Amino acid sequence: MEFEAVIGLEVHAQLSTQSKIFCACSTAFGAPPNENTCPVCTGMPGVLPVLNRRVVEFAIRTALATSCEVQKKSVFARKNYFYPDLPKAYQISQYELPLALAGHVDIEANGRMKRIGITRIHMEEDAGKLVHEGEFAGAQASLADLNRCSVPLMEIVSEPDIRTPEEAGAYLRRLRDILVYLEVCDGNMEEGSFRCDANVSVRPKGRKEFGTRAELKNMNSFRNVEKAIEYEISRQTELIEDGGKVVQETRLWDAAAGESLSMRGKEEAHDYRYFPDPDLLPLVVDGAWVEELRKTIPELPAEKIARLTAAYGLSKYDAELLSASRALAAFFEASSALFGGNHKVTANECIQWKESIASGKLSPETIAHAVEDRETGAISATASKKLVEIAIETGRPIRVIRDEQGLTQVSDAGALEEIVSRVLASNQKEVESYRAGKSGLLSFFVGQVMKETRGKANPRVVQEVLRKKLG
Ligand code: ADP
Ligand code: MG
Ligand code: ZN
Repeated sequence: MEFEAVIGLEVHAQLSTQSKIFCACSTAFGAPPNENTCPVCTGMPGVLPVLNRRVVEFAIRTALATSCEVQKKSVFARKNYFYPDLPKAYQISQYELPLALAGHVDIEANGRMKRIGITRIHMEEDAGKLVHEGEFAGAQASLADLNRCSVPLMEIVSEPDIRTPEEAGAYLRRLRDILVYLEVCDGNMEEGSFRCDANVSVRPKGRKEFGTRAELKNMNSFRNVEKAIEYEISRQTELIEDGGKVVQETRLWDAAAGESLSMRGKEEAHDYRYFPDPDLLPLVVDGAWVEELRKTIPELPAEKIARLTAAYGLSKYDAELLSASRALAAFFEASSALFGGNHKVTANECIQWKESIASGKLSPETIAHAVEDRETGAISATASKKLVEIAIETGRPIRVIRDEQGLTQVSDAGALEEIVSRVLASNQKEVESYRAGKSGLLSFFVGQVMKETRGKANPRVVQEVLRKKLG
């Protein structure tokens, strides 16, 4: 029997607002423990949450960018559970009435396009962090750091439309890129600002009903998500083939061991006793505001990739590399506008120097001039690389450096003819052999001319002149 996997992903994205979702505390990462806290986010009695407008704005923009329907009315609910890093003993989330519903993200995986549905997007607060460190009364102690309490999160839940680990990876990368393009999340998976839980089940191919799912947690890279899903698919398939049954549970991925371990039985929604938070009014979103926000949606990765391939004749691969960041793609377009020659060469340069471009050490002029000088033959490829390196180090204009360093190539055929004649005159024997059919000697002559010009001749022009003179 052949099995097929069914996968749905829950993404938690930390929104890059300056302050928390229900109080004015800073969201800055890496502050000393419990520094970014106040009575509201530490759950003191008698305090009231106030919703951060910017959080709603970021979530609406995400909803628009993923073709979701923004709901006019949504409601914050309390999700009740105790954990030492959750002093209120409930998390404020959205449940029955989330902010947005029914969107999608288009991906490409295994060589084909596919649309992955988005069930819902809602806003919620993060919990704090436990640091398992030190000892108390002879036992291992845990310390609570509440800085992360009430840091704003957006949960994006996909439909169970994903069928392979590759599709899951493609969906996550595309979603991350969209959030980063929107500047609502920094997308950093290692630091936990973009986290993913993967729900995985398997079923006999052709069957309509879904199998029982396991939920995988604790994967901190795209590669790990793909590996964890792959492992889970084999585990469930083997279990069923051996006559066993998949139990609904939460499993933790151990990246070092390359396997997942059962963490706990999966809790059901009713276990949390969700109810509308009486401290917060229902959120009513004004349609005019949504339309205002729609205007702030930039060109998104898929559109950019399509436009760069069509407008500049780039390969999809190059367009994707350039579109990895909005800034890099903009840099490429600025360079191409300054020199409209071979866009493919400009694209390669931008990709080659992307780190220096990201750190602001290169200007579009530098790349445009380097590409133009290479194309006119004014400098060689080797010289171009050297010049860009010096421009990065010194921040000076590349053509000034070029002239100072005397790195201009001689491409003028007239200027080279005299040198070529001299080389041929002093190598008569080789000239005869060449004319007698030893055409491989051409590179010998090129080498001699390069020696004469101390590497400054344009080898392409030298060959042309040589061929002409050798007849
Ligand atoms: P919960 O919080 O209980 O995990 P959510 O609704 O937040 O519930 O998320 C459920 C996720 O699991 C969704 O992404 C959904 O597509 C996915 N899912 C639901 N049923 C299955 C299944 N049988 N196999 C795989 N994924 C599933
Ligand atoms: Mg879940
Ligand atoms: Zn606070």
